[in-house]
Amino acid sequence: MNLENTPAKLLVTGGAGFIGANFVHYWLNKYPEDQVVVLDALTYAGNRASLASVEDNPQYTFVHGDICDTSLVEQLLLDHGLDTIVHFAAESHVDRSITGPDAFIETNVIGTHSLLKAAKKVWLDMPKADGLEPLKHRFHHVSTDEVYGTLEPNDPPFSETTAYAPNSPYSASKAASDHLVRAYHHTYGLEVTTSNCSNNYGPYHFPEKLIPLIITNILNDKPLPVYGDGKQVRDWLYVEDHARGIELVLREGRIGENYNIGGHNEWHNIDIVRLVCQLMDETFARDPALIKKYPSALQAAAGNSASLITYVTDRPGHDRRYAIDAQKSRSELGYEPVESFESGIQKTVTWYLQNDDWWKVLIKN
Ligand code: NAD
Repeated sequence: MNLENTPAKLLVTGGAGFIGANFVHYWLNKYPEDQVVVLDALTYAGNRASLASVEDNPQYTFVHGDICDTSLVEQLLLDHGLDTIVHFAAESHVDRSITGPDAFIETNVIGTHSLLKAAKKVWLDMPKADGLEPLKHRFHHVSTDEVYGTLEPNDPPFSETTAYAPNSPYSASKAASDHLVRAYHHTYGLEVTTSNCSNNYGPYHFPEKLIPLIITNILNDKPLPVYGDGKQVRDWLYVEDHARGIELVLREGRIGENYNIGGHNEWHNIDIVRLVCQLMDETFARDPALIKKYPSALQAAAGNSASLITYVTDRPGHDRRYAIDAQKSRSELGYEPVESFESGIQKTVTWYLQNDDWWKVLIKN
């Protein structure tokens, strides 16, 4: 591996969210000498319980705060001598962006700009004012494939040169933040990279998102809502494979570049729902004691979870298909997802069955 960049002191924004928390665990496991400072506003999507196992790790610090607070970010960069920002913090749920887009503009656009301003000031401007070279630094921005818009069934997948065409307030706010990151590199020389990733799944995923929603609704014997005809196509990636991809971009990615990270794993939503139903039925059949732990899971215990599937009115402007061409990450960085979908989805089902303490408190009755 040709290591060009070696992050050692990382600010992880949104580290109490789904992907951020998985990234923190991945990083501290692999690089136990590194220092990780999490900055998180603990919105409904942030959960310190996702970081419980690292709370006592002396290499880890949690800061409850907002990325829009530029002076707080500056202070953190200075106080901890941080050399890297890995920026996950965002409003991330498309449905919420349709009913309340303001928070998406605030965090995803203004918040990203606030981080860029703080990074520029501390890493570039302050040393320059003292007649010094810029500090060693890297700003990695975590974005989404949704910035590219939607695909027809036979269109080629999105590559890094696909024109941006966001369709929801969420994807538009992410697209705006991607452009700001790019502009701070071209205009000021800030050393940035961006990754655009497909749909993630795995542990610590908030139960409003499709896969954990299906698992937890089956356990509660509630309807499994499927938008429209359920034929929307998404490319699914196990969250640890995303963390691995970000690691490669951080260490070996070229400054100023975007990298697509995908799972080569396209599924219709309805087929994912049916697969999760089948796995839940099989798991309950293998372990009849599970019904004692989850007495509401009557359909799973009867091998009939799919009977809970309920078609609901489609989301307005719902993108039909996303698919990622990850050739650039593969050829430049040697990136390949490690987890197969079969193993990743089974791990995910097992994780939710074993971690009901984590998700039960997040579900409204
Ligand atoms: P999430 O909603 O689970 O977590 C977001 C985190 O950001 C939460 O902990 C929340 O408290 C925090 N946060 C929100 N506003 C904040 C603010 N103003 N200041 C500080 N913290 C704030 O999101 P996720 O699914 O983990 O996604 C992380 C990133 O990855 C996002 O940028 C998202 O756009 C991107 N992404 C997600 C997916 C996916 O499938 N989940 C796919 C591609 C890209």
